[in-house]
Amino acid sequence: MNARAVKIGIALIILLAMIPLYYFFNPAAAKEKAANSKNEKSELAAKESTAQKSQDEKKETANEYSKKDPEEAAAVNNGDESLKEESVTSEKASSEEKKEIQRDFLVVIDPGHQRHANLGKEPVGPGAVEMKMKVTGGTSGVATGKPEYQLALEASVILGDLLAKQGVKVIYTRTTHDVNLSNKERAEFANQHKADLFIRIHADGSTDKNVSGLSVLTPAHNDPYTKAIYEDSLKASELILAETKKNTSVKVNGISYRSDLSGFNWSQVPSTLIEMGFMSNPVEDRNLSDPTYLTNLLSNVADGILQYASLKK
Ligand SMILES: [Zn+2]
Repeated sequence: MNARAVKIGIALIILLAMIPLYYFFNPAAAKEKAANSKNEKSELAAKESTAQKSQDEKKETANEYSKKDPEEAAAVNNGDESLKEESVTSEKASSEEKKEIQRDFLVVIDPGHQRHANLGKEPVGPGAVEMKMKVTGGTSGVATGKPEYQLALEASVILGDLLAKQGVKVIYTRTTHDVNLSNKERAEFANQHKADLFIRIHADGSTDKNVSGLSVLTPAHNDPYTKAIYEDSLKASELILAETKKNTSVKVNGISYRSDLSGFNWSQVPSTLIEMGFMSNPVEDRNLSDPTYLTNLLSNVADGILQYASLKK
């Protein structure tokens, strides 16, 4: 071994020994380096978990859609493939915003009729000379024997639950059959609560047992009492009708414009009334008492209301 090689060897050893010495005498530099690598790791983990969460949420949405409409489910899935982190974040923000909006949207649901009719009279509208019965007994099922007031409450609770699940605020005019609430009082209840939508749930009856189908009743254009709510009411009625038409198991008749209903005429908030079907038709009567049929139909009604809510807020 010559002296030159020994010198180079010693120099190398000294150089190597300098590295830990540098960190030993300069602990701040070491800490910073460690901290940086830690931050990078946790940031990465956070990003990954956000992306995973959004993916999961999207999948859930897709599954929900697929129950109802395979076309929409396909659309959501296609979007999934071209996911970019930015779009995920903004979509997430907008869906949270949507929930926030719906929380501010109040629907007053009025289950039609009550156990005991009140055949006393009240004006058909504010300042009207014409008088109308306060609240009638409603119809009843020709096959099931179920009174309309009972079906109306059953349906209202299902509809309310569907809306509440979507973050909509729901209040009922009644939750029992033993009330004494006139149609005017029901409308005033919606006014007092400043409802964004007053929805009345009924079922039809006819002397002809062959007549069937769902109708949406809306304030008439020429009704002097409902000028202020005509347009919004019609919008809500149309959106609900369009959604129910998507349901192939439900016969849908259309919109009926009414100026004779106290429940509309006393209302200062947008109002609509769903006649879910004819209880005088044996098939439809049985259908309306089938929880699957009824829930299906009401999920269409809820979808229409949600569309109206997103338009208005
Ligand atoms: Zn009725």
